[in-house]
Amino acid sequence: DGPALRKPAWIRAKAPLGAGVARIRRLLRDSALATVCEEAQCPNLGECFAHGTATFMILGDLCTRRCPFCDVAHGRPEPPDPKEPARLAEAIARMGLSYVVITSVDRDDLRDGGAGHFADCLRAIRVRCKQTRLEVLVPDFRGREAMALEQFSADSVPDVFNHNLETVPRLYAQARPGADYQGSLNLLRAFKARHPRVPTKSGLMLGLGETRAEVLAVMRDLRAHDCDMLTIGQYLQPSAEHLPVREYWTPAAFAELEVEGRALGFAAVAAGAMVRSSYHADRQARGLLDT
Ligand code: SF4
Ligand code: SF4
Repeated sequence: DGPALRKPAWIRAKAPLGAGVARIRRLLRDSALATVCEEAQCPNLGECFAHGTATFMILGDLCTRRCPFCDVAHGRPEPPDPKEPARLAEAIARMGLSYVVITSVDRDDLRDGGAGHFADCLRAIRVRCKQTRLEVLVPDFRGREAMALEQFSADSVPDVFNHNLETVPRLYAQARPGADYQGSLNLLRAFKARHPRVPTKSGLMLGLGETRAEVLAVMRDLRAHDCDMLTIGQYLQPSAEHLPVREYWTPAAFAELEVEGRALGFAAVAAGAMVRSSYHADRQARGLLDT
């Protein structure tokens, strides 16, 4: 494998946190809810919380899969907590968040992959927080796609439907065991077919050994499956036990991908080393959402 690559200068450290952020953190402590922002020690936390954006993790913190790039623990999860939707809605109202991303681990143990619980959360938040925009970042619901998509209907249709491909198909066996590249593309297209007015979104992390040509091919595949929005960021190894970083893509290379993405017809593209799936999610979606 050779020695670990040095982190280049453009991988920046965490930004300092303001007073508004401390308030949101306190409210989170009280609510016993988990955010990806805190759990993954996301470097964008200060900026996102200050803008009224956060990513909540529902359905527990144990995943039924084990992807070697991911820091989430593997294990047998608990059944969905029926009180979670109300708790989430209450917390979002108290924090006054304007744009919320809801995501979960993979729940291969549940018949609908957890989609029904996603829908319950969307409904509860919609009742309590009428102004808050809601993006879901869903797992692949592999083998349960149709039943999962049925759950998102009427008042539980999200404002944005996000599902990350994460990497190029050649690296799936290594990086996303248990996932299926074509299945993920099909999920995005199937949602769009049901809800043509709702923007769909996907994301990639670079640095696992993919080539530029492979990344462009994935971007074309996404457009061919009616995906509207794209995020591309740099993979950072959470610990020595995780997949190594094979390459740090340069800011210039990310900028080129952003241009390519626009040329391919994505309505919004965010590419950059520190871009995460939910980074600037509110700004990305602005202009695409009905007011
Ligand atoms: Fe949270 Fe996403 Fe912002 Fe990171 S980029 S702080 S995970 S909302
Ligand atoms: Fe992490 Fe998602 Fe893989 Fe589970 S399925 S290990 S949460 S990347």
